[in-house]
Amino acid sequence: MDIRFDGRTAIVTGAGSGIGAAIARELGASGAHVVATDLDGATAAETAAAIAAAGGQAEAAALDVADAGAVAALCDRVAAERGLHLLVNNAGIGGPLAPTGDYPLDGWRRVIAVNLDGVFFGMRAAIPHMAAAGGGAIVNIASILGSVGFAGAPAYTAAKHALLGLTRTAALDHAGQGIRVNAVGPAFIDTPLLDNLPADAKAGLAALHPAGRLGRPDEVAALTLFLLSDRAGFITGSYHLIDGGYCAR
Ligand code: NAP
Repeated sequence: MDIRFDGRTAIVTGAGSGIGAAIARELGASGAHVVATDLDGATAAETAAAIAAAGGQAEAAALDVADAGAVAALCDRVAAERGLHLLVNNAGIGGPLAPTGDYPLDGWRRVIAVNLDGVFFGMRAAIPHMAAAGGGAIVNIASILGSVGFAGAPAYTAAKHALLGLTRTAALDHAGQGIRVNAVGPAFIDTPLLDNLPADAKAGLAALHPAGRLGRPDEVAALTLFLLSDRAGFITGSYHLIDGGYCAR
């Protein structure tokens, strides 16, 4: 299936690493002008450089998605310069691992700020521009932990569950303006996000998937690009697992 985004501009958050970097690279290879953003501007610049080296168009920006003003300023600038058509709210953190009864307050607040507030700030800033331009498409990177719980990760699980309600409501609010909003729910994907787990944990996590392995960032990128594309023109307000069968049991 040939999916192209020529003439469209995409903002990707958390594009300096893992899933976000893979999505940004695939968008660049598919003709989009990519605005690769990350908390760490240097890693965003690396992704933009990789896109350019492969013949695509990209720019980089440092962006903390938990900073509503900065998110709005970036969306306003991009929309004014070249139009804003696509948004991938990907930035996320794992946060501390601790039982709910012991969970640190600062960890809770930071996970909710990045993984939930950040997605709301992105949509709030981008949607008016998309509406004015006649439409757009948004993908929010949720998780299987939007569907099921995971011991030791109450903040992450709460944020990802909430993200699904936010996605559905934004889709209802803006379907009439030609804006589609969907969520993707990856299981455990082999990225630096898993690096704060104990050394032997990756093998244990892989075994939780009926497919018998962790997922890859490029697999999440493929689903995300489909949902952003016109091929998915009748898909909005929905949540798409990519989980090696994790939630099928
Ligand atoms: P990753 O490799 O750690 O990449 C996440 C990126 O987001 C990093 O570059 C990180 O920057 C950036 N970031 C962190 N806080 C930010 C902020 N406040 N503003 C902007 N950028 C920020 O993780 P990943 O696995 O690719 O995760 C991407 C998304 O997929 C997340 O939403 C995550 O919850 C979701 N997801 C991941 C998995 C998995 O197993 N990997 C499974 C399901 C869902 P720094 O490195 O500088 O902090």
